[in-house]
Amino acid sequence: MRKYDIVANELTETQVADRVVVWTAGGDTIQSSYGTNCVGVLGSEAALVIDPLISPGLARRVEAALRRRTNAPARFVVLTHHHTDHTWGASIFSSQGAAVVAHRACRERMAEQHPAILESRRRQPELADLVADTVLVLPQVTYDEALVIHLEDLEVELWHPGWGHTPGDTFLFLPEQRVAVCGDLVFEGYHYNYEDASVSGVRQGLKALEALDADVFIPGHGPAGGPEVLPRQAAYHDAVERIVTAGVDAGRDDSAIAEDIRSQFPDYRLGLVVPSAAAKFRASIGETRKRGSPETR
Ligand SMILES: [Zn+2]
Repeated sequence: MRKYDIVANELTETQVADRVVVWTAGGDTIQSSYGTNCVGVLGSEAALVIDPLISPGLARRVEAALRRRTNAPARFVVLTHHHTDHTWGASIFSSQGAAVVAHRACRERMAEQHPAILESRRRQPELADLVADTVLVLPQVTYDEALVIHLEDLEVELWHPGWGHTPGDTFLFLPEQRVAVCGDLVFEGYHYNYEDASVSGVRQGLKALEALDADVFIPGHGPAGGPEVLPRQAAYHDAVERIVTAGVDAGRDDSAIAEDIRSQFPDYRLGLVVPSAAAKFRASIGETRKRGSPETR
C-alpha cells in the first residue's frame, strides 16, 4: 500500500491507494470536525468527495488540497450518514455544481434535525465562527439499498447495511482499488459514538464490510488500515458491552460506567461520546432481560 502523510493547509493528507486520498483535521474537538476523515476519489475527468467535514471553512481546505491533486471538478459528494461532522461542508461543493448523494434516511434526518442544531450552535458564542457561513444542503440524490457511481474510468459502489451507526448509513467500495470507505461503522483509536446506533446493527455493519474484497479500510475517524481494523472495532463493542453489563449489575450509574470504559481504553480520543455507550448498552441489556434469555425462560 502506497501511503504517506503530508500536511496540506492544516489538513493531514494520506494517499491510501491509487487515486484515493484521505484528508483530516485530526484531533477530537468540534473545531477539527472531531477528526472525521474526508475521502477524495480522483477520476480523470471528475472527482468524488466523501464526507466534506463539519464546516465550509474546513471544506474549503479540502477543496484547496483537491486542487493540488487534480483539475477535475468535484461532481459528486457522498455523505456516509447525517451527523454534522460528516455533512456541513457540503455547500462548498454543491454550490459549484456537485450532486450530493446519500441514503434516503440520511436525508430525512438532516431535514428533521439540522435546522435546530444550526440555530442552537449559532447561539453559542464559542461556535459562532465555526457556523458563521454554514449553509444547510440536503442530498439531491438518495437511494435505498445500493447505488453505483461511475466516474468515467472508476466505479464507486454505495451500500446501505441497514441501521448501524445511524438509520441512514452508507459505506463505499472501490473494487479496482480494493478500498472500503467505512463511514462511522469504524472508529480507529477513537471511542465509538452510539448516540443514534443500533447495538446489533453496528455488528452487522462490520460483517458487511468483512465480506468486501478490500485491502484498505478507511474509518470514519482515525487512520486507515487493513482488514484488522474490523475485528478491533468488534472487540471494542464486546468490551463496552461487558463493562456496561458488569456496571449495571453492580448498580453503578452511567457516569461511573463511562469512567470504566475510558480507563479500559486510555489512549482513545473522543471521550465525550462515551456516555452514549453506557446509555445505549444499558437500554439494550434491559430489553434482552425483559424478553428473557433462553436459560431463564
Ligand atoms: Zn463521525
